[in-house]
Amino acid sequence: MLDGHKRIIDYLRISVTDRCNFRCRYCMPPQGIQLLSSQEILSYEELLRIITVLGQHGVSKIRITGGEPLLRSGIVDFLSRIRRIDTIQDLSMTTNGSLLGQNHMARRLKQAGLDRINISMDTTNSMRFAYITGQGQLQQVLAGIEGALEAGLHPVKLNVVVTEALSDSDISYFMNQVYQSPIAIRFIEYMPIGEKPMGQKVSIAMVKNRIELQGQGILEPVMNIAGNGPAKYYRLPGAQGMFGFITPMSEHFCHSCNRVRLTADGKIKSCLLSNHEVDIKSLLRRGCTDEEIYGLFAEALEVKQLQHSLDYGDQSSVRRPMVRVGG
Ligand code: SF4
Repeated sequence: MLDGHKRIIDYLRISVTDRCNFRCRYCMPPQGIQLLSSQEILSYEELLRIITVLGQHGVSKIRITGGEPLLRSGIVDFLSRIRRIDTIQDLSMTTNGSLLGQNHMARRLKQAGLDRINISMDTTNSMRFAYITGQGQLQQVLAGIEGALEAGLHPVKLNVVVTEALSDSDISYFMNQVYQSPIAIRFIEYMPIGEKPMGQKVSIAMVKNRIELQGQGILEPVMNIAGNGPAKYYRLPGAQGMFGFITPMSEHFCHSCNRVRLTADGKIKSCLLSNHEVDIKSLLRRGCTDEEIYGLFAEALEVKQLQHSLDYGDQSSVRRPMVRVGG
């Protein structure tokens, strides 16, 4: 598929639920959200139909997000059904990792056909972790990371939203990880959607400096990483793993945007940082052809913005909270 600026759109990010067992400050509004009923969210059958239709038009990469996707029952079976769609080349998931180390979940996801996984973890200090996530259990997430590595999901990526919570002990932990395992640790610039997490912005340049200082080595750029999306990757000498930096605010990457999103309540979102949404649920539920499904996505992409205009000043401009988009 092409958008209105002739960018190739081959990547669909699907939020399968708005439920989450964490309350991250920069994702979930402080007052919480009115949860969607099972009737209000797209069924797995509806999602599989959309994936199949778009697959016939070049959308070969699928990422499953939430809320917390592992909270939705039947998620493992859903993944195995996506995997059976022969146009899908890459199947990934973003999770907070808290459920990944339980009941062999990571291995079951791998067996179902999941290729790779991103786990959100902003700090390794349990107090700060609990503060940022509202109630998250750091140990569960650490167990989830181990589970993902042991299960052979590859690559395993950590998503670290850069806030003042990021300490030197966090950098040391991440440093050890990249020397011990082929993990990718990505530092993501905080995007002003929802409540500001903690204090002022911390620049990506500052994080790079701290890594080089602690690592006593220069971060060498790494090219052509599969599935790298907007991240720029670097490696410290002798490290198995890598560090990635994602800069949607200071150095956006909209010119190479290849993605479209689908929210749990059935809205096509052509851009994360715009309020433009197209309702596909009503079309599906009143009965439609596959061409009509494709047509609605094409319509939404035709008016996708060239680039975002979000700035740290205008916090309220993006109405839909992140928990209802899935990043
Ligand atoms: S802000 Fe919008 S256009 Fe830019 S990369 Fe994100 S989704 Fe794409």
